[in-house]
Amino acid sequence: MTALDDLVGRERAHTVQAYGSREDDPLVLVDADGVEVTTADGRRLLDFSAQTASCAIGYRHPVMLERLRHQLDVAVTSPAHIHRGRVDLSERLWAETRGELTRCWFGVTGSDAIEAALMFARLRPGRWKVVSHYNGYHGSTLGALSAHGIGRMRHGFEPLLPGFVRVQPPDVGHGHFPAGCDVTVAALAQLRHVLLDEDPEQVAAVLVEPIFAGGGVIVPPDAYLRGLRSLCDEFGILLVFDEVVTGIGRTGKMFAYQHSGAVPDLLVLGKGLTSGYQALSAVLLREWADPFGPGAPTRPLHLHTQAGSPMGCAAALATLDVLAEERLVENAAARGGELLAGLESHLRGSPRLVEVRGRGLLVGIELDPHGADAKAVEQRVVRACRDRGLIVYGSSGPYAVVVLHPPLSVTSDHVAAAVDVIAAAIDTLD
Ligand code: PLP
Repeated sequence: MTALDDLVGRERAHTVQAYGSREDDPLVLVDADGVEVTTADGRRLLDFSAQTASCAIGYRHPVMLERLRHQLDVAVTSPAHIHRGRVDLSERLWAETRGELTRCWFGVTGSDAIEAALMFARLRPGRWKVVSHYNGYHGSTLGALSAHGIGRMRHGFEPLLPGFVRVQPPDVGHGHFPAGCDVTVAALAQLRHVLLDEDPEQVAAVLVEPIFAGGGVIVPPDAYLRGLRSLCDEFGILLVFDEVVTGIGRTGKMFAYQHSGAVPDLLVLGKGLTSGYQALSAVLLREWADPFGPGAPTRPLHLHTQAGSPMGCAAALATLDVLAEERLVENAAARGGELLAGLESHLRGSPRLVEVRGRGLLVGIELDPHGADAKAVEQRVVRACRDRGLIVYGSSGPYAVVVLHPPLSVTSDHVAAAVDVIAAAIDTLD
């Protein structure tokens, strides 16, 4: 038995439900640099996953390493008292929203931040229901899971919390709305109907990903997000954007909501916030949506021991500094455009292609399973890419969608190489 087999065997023996460990041939990573990772058996792979869409600035970034080393020397390890990093980071995030979201709550994971956002929205008297969307991915804690739009994540943990209702997103081509109709109009009409049926005065929040990432990179028209804003305003409901994947530059703007002109009341961040170097999440709130602000009807306590940790805040500030210094948000927009265009031109005419879609460096390639199991087809392409030196993910949703979210530091050469590999991998299907 090799040392590698031994590691996989020991993990399977003592670790439950860990990412990747149940795959037939799991990846064991020993190093990473820039946009590449190194496996225990010595392969270098181009990483278009950014390890669950987290590593915004790339691996082994010298600024990040230097800041984290410095923070270790400061030796303040607990967020139980005021520390400079948390103050600086709250101000910085406020500035990144151009002053639109003035308050900040810190958590540890995307799920606990979603949980907090929904709990905060539900603090308003009488408002306890939450409307979310099918195919929305919101995390693994009980409240986040109750809002989850992907059935196979919920199943087994049901019954979940009461008061959670789902609507269809404005998704073209999966049979949820009549062919040829205006999906934005149809989806907003459906939502209005659901709100009226539920009694809008009992609805605390409408929750949406500005791009449904894990669900298969479904991109709602900007007009839909603006329509959500209007409906929430009309009924006094809080609009919550889950930007755990789309935030921190991924879509070519610092936050995806900035494409649409629809400003949420609560904005949830995770993953890329620290580039994955530390565990930190955040909920940004508009002044009036802050349930702990002066004049709020109730001021309960809600906190986690390591939320807003000094190391987490140092990693987030390093991420934001590198994004600005290296113009990586602009790079995400430019390289994302090349990625979409390259895939469209290479895959044009492929009998397997349904659609290439996305924004910035969040791109999905939907495949036609030709009657076979959609997830099996998707996984065959993911595997064929890996065999050719490229890491990509499949989606969590029901369709066959290959999902790309590389570090925002990718170059045009990386993009061109990835496009070639993906086209060759899709060709292996036939
Ligand atoms: N929201 C979105 C959009 C996500 O994709 C995820 C995780 O993939 C989460 C929330 C939950 O984040 P975490 O896994 O850090 O709890």
